Amino acid sequence: MFHYYCIRTILKQNESNSNRMEPAYAQNRNSLLNRLSTQPEWDLVVIGGGATGLGVALDAGSRGYSVLVLEQADFAKGTSSRSTKLVHGGVRYLAQGDVQLVREASIERGLLCRNAPHLVKNQTFIIPIYSQWDRLKYTIGLKLYDWIAGRLSLGASVFISRAATIEKLPNVKTEGLVGGVLYHDGQFDDSRLAINLVQTIFEQGGHALNYVKVTGLLKNERNQLNGVMVVDRETGREYTCRAKAVVNCTGVFVDDILHMDNPAAQKSITVSQGVHLVLDKKFLPSEDALMIPATSDGRVLFAVPWHNKVVVGTTDTPVGEASLEPKALEKEIAFILENASNYFVQKPQRTDVLSVFAGLRPLAAPQKADQETKEISRSHKIIVSSSHLFTILGGKWTTFRKMGEDMVDRIEKELNWPHKRSASRQMPLHGHMDGVNRNDPFYFYGSDTARVKKLINGHAGRWISETLQIHEAQVIWAVQEEMARTVEDVLSRRTRALLLDARESIRMAEPVAQVMAALLGKDKAWIQQQVDDYTRVAEQYILN
Ligand SMILES: Cc1cc2nc3c(=O)[nH]c(=O)nc-3n(C[C@H](O)[C@H](O)[C@H](O)COP(=O)(O)OP(=O)(O)OC[C@H]3O[C@@H](n4cnc5c(N)ncnc54)[C@H](O)[C@@H]3O)c2cc1C
Repeated sequence: MFHYYCIRTILKQNESNSNRMEPAYAQNRNSLLNRLSTQPEWDLVVIGGGATGLGVALDAGSRGYSVLVLEQADFAKGTSSRSTKLVHGGVRYLAQGDVQLVREASIERGLLCRNAPHLVKNQTFIIPIYSQWDRLKYTIGLKLYDWIAGRLSLGASVFISRAATIEKLPNVKTEGLVGGVLYHDGQFDDSRLAINLVQTIFEQGGHALNYVKVTGLLKNERNQLNGVMVVDRETGREYTCRAKAVVNCTGVFVDDILHMDNPAAQKSITVSQGVHLVLDKKFLPSEDALMIPATSDGRVLFAVPWHNKVVVGTTDTPVGEASLEPKALEKEIAFILENASNYFVQKPQRTDVLSVFAGLRPLAAPQKADQETKEISRSHKIIVSSSHLFTILGGKWTTFRKMGEDMVDRIEKELNWPHKRSASRQMPLHGHMDGVNRNDPFYFYGSDTARVKKLINGHAGRWISETLQIHEAQVIWAVQEEMARTVEDVLSRRTRALLLDARESIRMAEPVAQVMAALLGKDKAWIQQQVDDYTRVAEQYILN
């Protein structure tokens, strides 16, 4: 324990030396919760702290509205930490003829590269080509993709020779290989972006809380919504929050909130699961990502370099129930391994999988009874109930900002508020820094990197995982600056240990819990509970 008292003392010294004004999100949780009792009314209360809710709050805050985000678990605990990590126009949507969605997403991709350059990078993708027909088809298709993005294109697509393709993708199947089509898209870290969005929302005067669940909706005598009932999931304490507009951004849980408003409400979404496998970099020893344009079920499959590993996915499987911890099905795992193996010389086996994670897509309910989930448009949809519950569903991480802008425009219109201009398009997000060195293990903190390093150098901390390059100082940072409350918050969403190597992350749980306990004033029983809870979750990310 002595070690952790040292940490706290040095932290205090660091803070007093820097004369820094403490940002609101770095206050202790009680101060953040106090605001729930003291704020008489918010302009907007946003239910759900995933990409969509944070996009709405970002945009509302940029217009000067007072906004509160309430998340029942951790920020990005749901779908928003389980994406393929692409900020993309969507080559697949182009093949489906959804030009408008591709155009919208390409613009947002360009804006996000500018607004969060420390987290979003220009990623080259290569489609390996095995026939002259495919060469023609994909060369033309990707030229169209470039053209749709216009000025915000990340670079021109080109056909590259067989030799260049093999040099760039050393593990690619060479038999019958004609060459490759190289194109550009964006790649990012989803939950890190969510955390930076929370910080940005605070910095523009908004407020956000994790582990606070909305349990009911409040209405006035005209049956119009005017607030929400919530419970702090750590203490069980209940609060009432008044709001001029209540926004339902709960992803695959939107129907639960719609039912609170109207028990007879129709089902608005259908849920589709997508799974990813994380492999060692030896399966894609390259800076380039691989795109397989036609798998055995007619989808695309990506293998994307990410934090020194490779993320391979995804699937599209309809599922009946929404859950915060969805489980990969055996057939999805087999599908990914089989399709990746068709393109790799060194073929990945089950034992090579470092982590398997599943996410759920909240898709607008199908128009036709026999429509497959992969055919349902990924564009977003806004529903406004007669009591003015504002619900948004569908969409993509890439378009989160535009979804927010559209929602706030709609609220202004429906509630007859005078229009205020959105400023989220050009808004640099917390951590914004150009030219980060991606070989630096702490690059993703962007403009905070220097402060994280100061913490490392300022005390006798240690690496919690040398293989994943995760340091004790990052745990401290996560608790003090990024609202982490549990071991899982740190290992899954502030760092990405759970997704990068689930076994290694279980080993890290105890040292992480000890550092957190010292900072949060928790006892041994809390440490044990945290380790047990985390292990239970993380075991589901391991393939036996
Ligand atoms: C497999 C897969 C791969 C994908 N890949 C990409 C990609 O590469 N690029 C891309 O652009 N998009 C991608 N997407 C889409 C993207 O991830 C989603 O569109 C986005 O994350 C959805 O965010 P959301 O905020 O709507 O939902 P969520 O992230 O699920 O957030 C909803 C939140 O609401 C909270 N909540 C629910 N009920 C309550 C309540 N009562 N009170 C308080 N909080 C509540 C939940 O806890 C949850 O955190 C992918 C999706 C999947 C499934």
